Amino acid sequence: MDIFDKCYNFTEARDAIATGLYPYFHALHTAQDTEVIMDGRRIIMIGSNNYMGLTNDPRTKQAAIEALEKYGTGCSGSRFLNGSLVLHEQLEAELAEFFNKDAAITFSTGFQTNLGAVSAVVGRHDYIINDAENHASIIDACRLAFVKNVLKYEHSDMASLEERLARLPEDAGKLIITDGVFSMSGDIANLPKIIELARKYNARVMVDDAHGVGMIGANGRGTASYYGLEKEVDIIMTTFSKSLASLGGCIAAEAPVIDYVKHRSRPFIFSASIPPANAAAAREALRILKTEPERQKALIDISNYMRAKLKAAGIPIIEGETAIIPVYTYEMNRTFLATKMLFEEGVYVNPVIPPAVCEGQCMLRTSYTATHTHEQMDAAVEAFKRVWAKLYN
Ligand code: PMP
Repeated sequence: MDIFDKCYNFTEARDAIATGLYPYFHALHTAQDTEVIMDGRRIIMIGSNNYMGLTNDPRTKQAAIEALEKYGTGCSGSRFLNGSLVLHEQLEAELAEFFNKDAAITFSTGFQTNLGAVSAVVGRHDYIINDAENHASIIDACRLAFVKNVLKYEHSDMASLEERLARLPEDAGKLIITDGVFSMSGDIANLPKIIELARKYNARVMVDDAHGVGMIGANGRGTASYYGLEKEVDIIMTTFSKSLASLGGCIAAEAPVIDYVKHRSRPFIFSASIPPANAAAAREALRILKTEPERQKALIDISNYMRAKLKAAGIPIIEGETAIIPVYTYEMNRTFLATKMLFEEGVYVNPVIPPAVCEGQCMLRTSYTATHTHEQMDAAVEAFKRVWAKLYN
């Protein structure tokens, strides 16, 4: 038995490439923007999480350049020891203020933020109660916490959440974790009810707002702000790789919680800190978010425009109010085929198949950017119409 046997015998990707339907690892020849050159083709990008359109903004780029020149290309160590820059501390203070919390700490990616936060605050004998559609990084965070009891409730089903909570010992430590805006379906968690149940059953609440930040809430402050529940949500998590146009992530919470995570979280302590250019780009994006509310409005307007046009064209979208608009394709082959046909029509979308969604619920995840134009949206809808006519005739 060789542990590499599974690699030598792995043909799934090669088989898919042979069919011509393999949708992954297209290379960009340009910056991430509303239009990109991908595999040599000009493509309208409706598959990125660059919600605010700041990845190629002169101001975020300039902030990154200046930080790079001042602090160099990397930190060569963890925040804990030699890798803390004044820049990280400034960013953390601004994030804490943004989320209306005492304090914040940053991690090197959003994925690592979930790993680092959950594994630090949840002990082996505590309970985690997850929404069934929580992001993969939360699922892996539960594994890293070595927690014995991870419960899952039906997606956004508050009766299901209450049923799970009611089963648990009253005095046990409990953390309810939910995405704020769900990454695949784009719907918004029912935080008022989640908070109410958390109070009733003595649980804490953590919200992963990777997608909510920028998109909803006052000046893009996310889902807790959208409901006016910033104080009630115990831990607000977000990533910098979406609206904040960079790489990294953070949690914001009460000062003692941040202090504890800072001194106990292994993914925080044993990993190098965010490179200067990325920290500075996130800071600048945050500044822009706070001072240019018109961007958030543009994002919602362009998404609503697209939602209405797709619906009018008979494309089976999942209704919602965010900048993520999923289109049902249900079955896997059709999902790959639609992705390829749209690509050939000059439109990039993300195919979503199990395990990211349930069997038979495959979809194309489309997502929008504040700087998308109506012309780009009109062209994308025409492409959808042509593809749908071919797929379903
Ligand atoms: N949480 C959610 C809900 C996400 O969608 C993602 C990324 N898709 C992450 C966490 C991880 O963030 P990052 O890609 O910045 O590591």
